[in-house]
Amino acid sequence: DGVIEFKDVVFSYDNKIEALKGVNFKVHANESGALVGESGAGKSSIMRLLYRFYDIQQGTIFIDGQDISKVKQASLRKAIGIVPQEPGLFNTSIYQNILYGNNSASDEEVEAAAKAAQIYDRILSFPEGWNTVVGERGVKLSGGEKQRVALARTFLKNPKILLLDEATSALDTHTEKQLQLALKNILQGRTSLTIAHRLSTIVNSERIIVLDNGRVVENGSHVDLINEN
Ligand code: ADP
Ligand code: ADP
Repeated sequence: DGVIEFKDVVFSYDNKIEALKGVNFKVHANESGALVGESGAGKSSIMRLLYRFYDIQQGTIFIDGQDISKVKQASLRKAIGIVPQEPGLFNTSIYQNILYGNNSASDEEVEAAAKAAQIYDRILSFPEGWNTVVGERGVKLSGGEKQRVALARTFLKNPKILLLDEATSALDTHTEKQLQLALKNILQGRTSLTIAHRLSTIVNSERIIVLDNGRVVENGSHVDLINEN
């Protein structure tokens, strides 16, 4: 479950520049894939197309062998979880932030998601430290903690495919380690595709897809890529 396949995908915004010029790749079930390439290579476009923010002009995108243009938007979006660069939190409790978009989840499920993302100890905190209900001022969450709240929210949704847009800013070693631990829990048993900026992500990914100017120029494990070059 969770196989992603792009077949001869051609896509342009407003029918002008071709952002993708015939893209082919496959990420197998439970595999972790990294999208690598310069700015403008087409990484974000691939993510947007998978979530069907736009329709493609040519080719086919399959998830588990099904053409996504023929799948209901709601079931597609249920199958896919997105972790954006910016965590997108509200100034409500972390508990409420994790619950956001998953309103039918039980307390136990929210707590399990918080534990998996290693943010359980802050579950009653507020992202900016302000508890508007009680009028208290606590300690605000660090950037890494906020990212783990976004991971917990996605974990709770339990999608079979995870799309991650890695933050471009460098993280300190401690934050990076905690984030990697949380990610490891969340990637377990899912297919993932990450817009990768960090070397550690690229090295740990099972499949590295290198894009250049709207085309896939390399695709394989890091060992494959090293042996080829
Ligand atoms: P990357 O994520 O690798 O930086 P993108 O997928 O964002 O690359 O961009 C691929 C191409 O599409 C670039 O030429 C970029 O300028 C263009 N592009 C990206 N987003 C838009 C948009 N919303 N409207 C028009 N062109 C866009
Ligand atoms: P970012 O890289 O900041 O996340 P995007 O992925 O949205 O930004 O866009 C990537 C590239 O596409 C940028 O070079 C941006 O200038 C270009 N782009 C984004 N939106 C548009 C648009 N509506 N029209 C033309 N180019 C765009």
